[in-house]
Amino acid sequence: MNIHEYQAKDILNGYFIPVPRGRVALTADQVERAAKEMGGHCVIKAQIYAGGRGKAGGVKLVQHPEQAQEFGKELFGKKLITPQTGPEGLRVRRILIEEAVEIAREFYLSITLDRESSRFCLIASAEGGIDIEEVARNSPDKIHLLNIDPFTGLQPFQARKIAIALGLTGTVCEDCVELIQNLYRCALEKDCLLIEINPLVETKAGWLMAMDAKINFDDNAMFRHREYPDMLDYSQLDPLEISAGKYDLSYIKLTGNVGCMVNGAGLAMATLDVLKEFGAEPANFLDVGGGSTREKVAEAFKIILQDCDVRGVFVNIFGGIMRCDVIAQGIIEAASEVQCRLPIVVRMDGSTVEEGKKLLLESGLNVQIGENLGDGASKIVAMLLKKTVA
Ligand code: GDP
Ligand code: MN
Repeated sequence: MNIHEYQAKDILNGYFIPVPRGRVALTADQVERAAKEMGGHCVIKAQIYAGGRGKAGGVKLVQHPEQAQEFGKELFGKKLITPQTGPEGLRVRRILIEEAVEIAREFYLSITLDRESSRFCLIASAEGGIDIEEVARNSPDKIHLLNIDPFTGLQPFQARKIAIALGLTGTVCEDCVELIQNLYRCALEKDCLLIEINPLVETKAGWLMAMDAKINFDDNAMFRHREYPDMLDYSQLDPLEISAGKYDLSYIKLTGNVGCMVNGAGLAMATLDVLKEFGAEPANFLDVGGGSTREKVAEAFKIILQDCDVRGVFVNIFGGIMRCDVIAQGIIEAASEVQCRLPIVVRMDGSTVEEGKKLLLESGLNVQIGENLGDGASKIVAMLLKKTVA
């Protein structure tokens, strides 16, 4: 789960990591008032669930409250497109106004869960800022990595090694050691998949400060943090993702034109791979989970059809706990309700598979049965081709 920069900074502040004084605004007038409060000289920052805002025109240093208001007007409602938003971009609904800080040096500091070692990994670089991706690409030796042993935790000497590698000396170096240890504590206690401070700066006055912050919570730990869902900004999410969430379904948007309904993450991955192998591009996938009901399947199918990129639907379900005739009924119910004429291919197997197939073939829908995964994938590709030719 993502949160905004200002929320991430609040959390970091709670762990004694200094952040600039700031305020969140929902209107251009509020931007102006906040800018006045900061003394006019401030930074205006679009709050979206993506980074790369600086280069996309979402961050601006201003000198006067009127200038702040003007930029606020320009930003509110605007879609920012950055390398992290995808081509559709994200709309700005909240703006953070912060006191301007005089920066002496910019660093990169993050902590993330490394799936390969199953450990938290600390990443630091003396060349932080908006070009960090290029640093990683062109001079990976400038990036320092540290895998943290969960048993011993992060040791002060390890944090000091990183601080020294960043070129820090004296009191700032000691501040950095403390900051790194607090960052690790925050990642652990708040169940973060990622905390990224880019840039972490040394101010001209000689203090360390998190100028930008990104936090991503681990969804699997949600039960430990009942307050997290209230932090969500729904304007930043795909509406279909929100409706899927209501029915406890996981919906992932992709860029192609075949909607996919599957059960289980492993089957979803295999389905996407095989579709690609046959030359199809998935528009999304929706995982209906294990013990689903007819209503849930129907809701899932309707969500897939609401994705306006979908030109055909591929269903790949193994009826273990779930019976195939129930799946078929759910599909028929949903497709009839929204009068779907799109090509549908259903590949299913397991309990009551024959009854399920029979129901589908007699439904009057534009549906074909895939005998196996490959057969199903080739059928949906053929049906889509026929449609484009016709
Ligand atoms: P991102 O592009 O989405 O990562 O947005 P950031 O919050 O990192 O802002 C982009 C850049 O703006 C930073 O790397 C800083 O160089 C600059 N910046 C942000 N806040 C301030 C500030 O208070 N003073 C100055 N001088 N620069 C700032
Ligand atoms: Mn940044």
